[in-house]
Amino acid sequence: MIQVENLVGGKFSTTEEIIDDISPLNGEVIASIPRTRSVDDAVAIASSAQPEWGALSIADRADWLDKIADALEERIERIAELESLDTGKPYEVSRNVDAARSVYNFRFFAAFGREQKQEIFEMDDATNFVLRKPIGVVGLISPWNLPLYLMTWKIAPALLMGNAIIAKPSEITPLTAHYLGQVCTEIGLPDGLLNIVHGYGPEVGQAIVEHPDIKAISFTGGTATGRIVAATAAPMFKKLSLELGGKNASIVLADADLDKTVPGVLRASFLNSGQICLCGSRVLVHSSIHDEFMQRYLKELESFEIGPVISEEHRAKVLSYIELAQKEGGVILAGGNIPNKPGAWIEPTVIGGLSHASRTATEEIFGPVVTIHQFDTDEEALEMANCTEYGLSGSVWSESRGREIAEQIDSGMVWVNTWLHRDLRVPFGGVKNSGVGREGGTWSLDFFSEAVNICVHEG
Ligand code: NAD
Repeated sequence: MIQVENLVGGKFSTTEEIIDDISPLNGEVIASIPRTRSVDDAVAIASSAQPEWGALSIADRADWLDKIADALEERIERIAELESLDTGKPYEVSRNVDAARSVYNFRFFAAFGREQKQEIFEMDDATNFVLRKPIGVVGLISPWNLPLYLMTWKIAPALLMGNAIIAKPSEITPLTAHYLGQVCTEIGLPDGLLNIVHGYGPEVGQAIVEHPDIKAISFTGGTATGRIVAATAAPMFKKLSLELGGKNASIVLADADLDKTVPGVLRASFLNSGQICLCGSRVLVHSSIHDEFMQRYLKELESFEIGPVISEEHRAKVLSYIELAQKEGGVILAGGNIPNKPGAWIEPTVIGGLSHASRTATEEIFGPVVTIHQFDTDEEALEMANCTEYGLSGSVWSESRGREIAEQIDSGMVWVNTWLHRDLRVPFGGVKNSGVGREGGTWSLDFFSEAVNICVHEG
């Protein structure tokens, strides 16, 4: 049994009331988590630690990011074990996706920070110097699907730009954030820069969003929660980055190379049990290749390994969509059942025969459930791809026209003949109800700083 504690000002402590952390693998309690309600102390400590950190050069702060990356890399197996324990995902996924990317988030932003040059704009009689000043104390709130991966995606650029942090991981998956706190304390990251508080979203999450001395909020989670965060933060004029839900399409054109497309689309469908905001949960296939594609897709699905979903409560939501799909006229082509074992397991499920405008095909399920739709023309494919309230990502599979189709999809990120192929310099974020703002590369540096111009007249 692990005791997760808050990290505030370099010290670990818990609260009187605690929350159970339950394993999705077998339903057992694996850890206790503090039930924090206030962040006043954490913000006061962060505010006093920030100025010294903000006064360091970006190169010095980049050195710290590399130190954190080194320390995490030495402990990468432990990170993967903890992530698998907490989320139920296969060890290989935790090791090669979650843990590896968490290390790389620090490495990438360290190197990217060192490359930055001061922007200068010359006029005939003056020179403009653009400074990127730290914001001060920033609030980082993250979900349970890629716990350390998404948390470090925010922590690394926030620290790089000279801020102090109040971070809140999901109460469902607190273990790796706690471990990160222990590692940063062990290597001597100055106290008060990385504060990690645990508890329920509407309590401690809301306290972060409401706190007047937290000037920016970077939030990744569901669209409904994002709406609450925005409603709270906007009247306080906080900087806000919202990375929200998705219902992404994988479009398979008639000229797709099925040897590459079938495994690619399958991975986009079911990696992490379909619990990645970027997953392609709607597969749109040209009618001329539909039968062959489906035969191969369903065959390869038989050997695709997935873990459980995150909790029994979440499984109930996923199952309710499988029932809804049947009421909407859908036909289960694979899966749909609950394996006879403890934990939050559910078979990967493929559903055909639904309208692309049905609720099952337009609402975010966030589980191992995919709907299949056929189209005859590009216009039809695009109409289907763009018909939801979301616009996060998508993929197009074609030997000749992928980019042309990709440009017409209303989404923040579209891959052609690949999926989740990430270059951390590019903008990451969604359009429509999938979010506000972009993270990644320069966009993260901009978000976690205030750009200030000094104009020096040379008269
Ligand atoms: P969620 O919205 O329930 O929770 C996300 C985080 O917000 C958690 O830490 C939670 O405790 C906190 N929270 C809840 N209520 C809050 C409040 N009132 N104020 C402040 N914080 C609050 O989401 P989830 O179920 O943890 O994650 C799944 C969702 O996240 C899916 O919709 C998925 O698409 C989305 N997601 C988006 C991205 C992206 O980059 N766009 C990435 C991963 C996940």
